[in-house]
Amino acid sequence: MNLSYWEIKSWLTNIDYTIVGSGIVGLNCALQLKQHFPKANILILERGMLPQGASTKNAGFACFGSLSEIIDDLKSHSEEEVFGLVKKRLEGLLLLRQTLSDKVIDYQQLGGYELFYNDNDIFFEHCLAQQESINRLLKPLFKEDVFSLKDNSFGFKNIKNQYSFNKFEGHINTGKMMDSLTQLVLSKGVKILNSVLVENFEENNDSVHIKTNHFEFKTNKLLIATNGFASQLLDENVKPARAQVLITKSIENLHIKGTFHLDKGYYYFRNIDNRILFGGGRNLDFKGEETTELIQTELIQNRLETLLKTIILPETDFEIDLRWSGIMGVGNQKKPIVKQISNNIFCGVRLGGMGIAIGSTIGLDLAQLVK
Ligand SMILES: Cc1cc2nc3c(=O)[nH]c(=O)nc-3n(C[C@H](O)[C@H](O)[C@H](O)COP(=O)(O)OP(=O)(O)OC[C@H]3O[C@@H](n4cnc5c(N)ncnc54)[C@H](O)[C@@H]3O)c2cc1C
Repeated sequence: MNLSYWEIKSWLTNIDYTIVGSGIVGLNCALQLKQHFPKANILILERGMLPQGASTKNAGFACFGSLSEIIDDLKSHSEEEVFGLVKKRLEGLLLLRQTLSDKVIDYQQLGGYELFYNDNDIFFEHCLAQQESINRLLKPLFKEDVFSLKDNSFGFKNIKNQYSFNKFEGHINTGKMMDSLTQLVLSKGVKILNSVLVENFEENNDSVHIKTNHFEFKTNKLLIATNGFASQLLDENVKPARAQVLITKSIENLHIKGTFHLDKGYYYFRNIDNRILFGGGRNLDFKGEETTELIQTELIQNRLETLLKTIILPETDFEIDLRWSGIMGVGNQKKPIVKQISNNIFCGVRLGGMGIAIGSTIGLDLAQLVK
């Protein structure tokens, strides 16, 4: 299909900034650029009919790390780095809440819980033994103890009678967050084109020539916010990591409220609209889940159902309503890559499982690279 003169003139000419990816990072980056350069022409290209990576697929935990996650992070990162990461997550959440408001994104701070399998005494004791020092590490940020112990009041089975509780953890409505963020970005005059796949690009002296599945055009600056798909366009250390999810149908008198982590965070669940949203299980097949294919596997979906029956809802009848998957971007370090690639090309990718928390600030950091 040939584009018309009008289409080329109005949508694809004099583009100052082109952002690839309309996830939380791409949208926040556009918002920040528009704030700084109100007159700039900003175009977002998105390969999906909706965002098709992680931002509209996730569990909506507004979290900054469970007790075991922080202990685990300390094995491969210094105390300073871990503190810095928690701070970044906290600041990112505040920015997200300020940008869109708690009401719009349904932010609720119901607390986060970490459950420990009944038969893993050593791991449970190990985490408990470190609780005090982790609380000490985080005190400058929260001014009080973050982690405490709570009795199993939700009636979960096959887990320790006490779980680790974090009163600062919350959750959001992911759909409302992404919908309102998109509307906000559009209202500022940013253009978003969906179902446009960026295939490759070539940098010239003062611009970048972009080739998509539908058309080619020129932009002054190119910003890549494609997270788990980053290695398709960039030579950066980002691997795709698929995460599978299911959600039950509505359950009468559902008493479970909050966000929950199980098995070192490999599983996570929460309440939403009287349902349980449950995800995880990547550890059952790390290699197989290192993919950008948006499908589900029997192995992981069956395991999710088994854990629902045996641990989360042992006394309650439930039916599964929907199943889906999303793609995260991970690497050997739990650190996003925000950098200038060349004169006119920049990227903000590799957000791991932390994008709700850090997505807004990574968008800001990415925009600041070109300011
Ligand atoms: C199931 C699941 C549960 C999660 N739960 C949580 C949670 O509870 N809390 C939390 O903080 N984080 C969670 N995450 C992680 C979080 O969702 C991500 O870190 C975050 O959404 C990443 O945002 P992003 O904008 O960097 O990437 P994405 O949202 O993946 O956006 C990248 C976009 O780029 C597009 N794209 C890719 N390649 C191209 C191309 N060549 N041309 C055009 N467009 C392209 C994709 O379609 C995609 O829409 C979860 C992730 C998943 C998958």
